[in-house]
Amino acid sequence: LGRSLSKTMKKLAGMTIVDEEVVREVIKDIQRALIQSDVNIKLVFNLSKSIEERALNEEPPKGITPKEHIISIVYDEMVKLLGEKSHELVIDDKPYRILFLGLQGSGKTTTIGKLARYLRKKGFTVGVVCTDTWRPAALEQLKQYTEGQDVSIYGDPQNRDALDLAEKGLARFQKKDVIIFDTAGRHKEEKDLLREMEELSAIVEPHEAILVIDGTIGQQAREQALAFRKATDIGSIIVTKLDGSAKGGGALSAVAEIGAPIKFIGTGERIDDLEVFDPERFISRLLGMGDLRSLLEKVEEVSEEEIAEESLDAILSGKFTLRDMRVQFEMMGKMGPLQQVMSMLPGAGKLPKDASKMTEETIRKYLIIMDSMTEEELEKPDIIKHSRIRRIARGSGTRNEDVKELLKYYRVTKKAMKGLGRRKMGGPMGQLMR
Ligand code: GDP
Ligand code: MG
Repeated sequence: LGRSLSKTMKKLAGMTIVDEEVVREVIKDIQRALIQSDVNIKLVFNLSKSIEERALNEEPPKGITPKEHIISIVYDEMVKLLGEKSHELVIDDKPYRILFLGLQGSGKTTTIGKLARYLRKKGFTVGVVCTDTWRPAALEQLKQYTEGQDVSIYGDPQNRDALDLAEKGLARFQKKDVIIFDTAGRHKEEKDLLREMEELSAIVEPHEAILVIDGTIGQQAREQALAFRKATDIGSIIVTKLDGSAKGGGALSAVAEIGAPIKFIGTGERIDDLEVFDPERFISRLLGMGDLRSLLEKVEEVSEEEIAEESLDAILSGKFTLRDMRVQFEMMGKMGPLQQVMSMLPGAGKLPKDASKMTEETIRKYLIIMDSMTEEELEKPDIIKHSRIRRIARGSGTRNEDVKELLKYYRVTKKAMKGLGRRKMGGPMGQLMR
């Protein structure tokens, strides 16, 4: 899907004039690509209709070419197809009980390994209970996936009673932040499987039942999800095997349609191949447009300029907070090598010595750390002391030293910033802030 769509987009990007005929041609290409990836015909039809309508009737915003306008409409409408918002997994109770459901081979056990790692990185303690009495070596597989991650596993190959295993595991892991229950996906009959899920559900009383669906099955994902939803209250969905599958778009759109949020996608067999599902990012990648991001930024520029302006006011009034620093980092990230930006800053000499050595990697790390801070902490960094540092480090999967380093960088920068006046700001940084 990705390849043909990105070809379509490139074709469009190369055109000098855009008229009705071009719009129709682009839509036809999109239709072809979506149908090939097993997206439901009705969805494809609705999508093409809204793209066509908007492309032909809407006036491009000021400063946006008709071509760019169509690209952003295509993007917009495709994101809508997948549910627009991303949904986080929120651990708001302890122990937070997650029941994994899904057919044999859909990727439950693999995904549990990935999710356990994801949660460990966020600082949660995790116990996994194996209730799969069907697959030989189910327990071994779990152990293998969670090796070296400080995740506790409970299972007993001698015990053939899934419900009993669930009960024992539940009792054992009461002190954990999260308990994940792996289940069997196979029974002699589908109704037996669904009944077992119902019974398990009654014992576990999950905060969240996560349905795992194999992304290579395309549109059929819808039927599968509906069947499981009859048996249990599905809280969310993970679609796996989206690496290299031609039918990923079909599965995702089919599942998005039933209304349970897709929280993660599996993009490979390795432990790190789990992504928080973000429809916008997914579509950008699908359309194969790095350019797309800058285009959309252009559309959103106005609001960003406002943010930058606010941030500058904050600096000038000496009220430079961590939130302001985050805005700066985000902007720097878009502007390329930081060294260059920094060297153009008047007063650069006053900035922390390591500033010029700040790599994109460090910026990314700092952004992740700041993501783990509360609004209050971003606003009043002075309250961040020992226990908060520990919490933030745990939450962001970094070390206490990293958080301290960030805070130090913030303080020195704040001091240096005080000396900078609006007029003195030259170069791209100055433009950015004006
Ligand atoms: P379960 O029966 O639902 O527990 O499924 P498993 O976790 O045992 O996975 C079945 C197969 O799918 C294994 O060979 C996994 O390596 C593979 N698999 C799981 N998730 C992904 C994924 O995101 N991408 C790819 N390529 N393979 C996956
Ligand atoms: Mg399994």
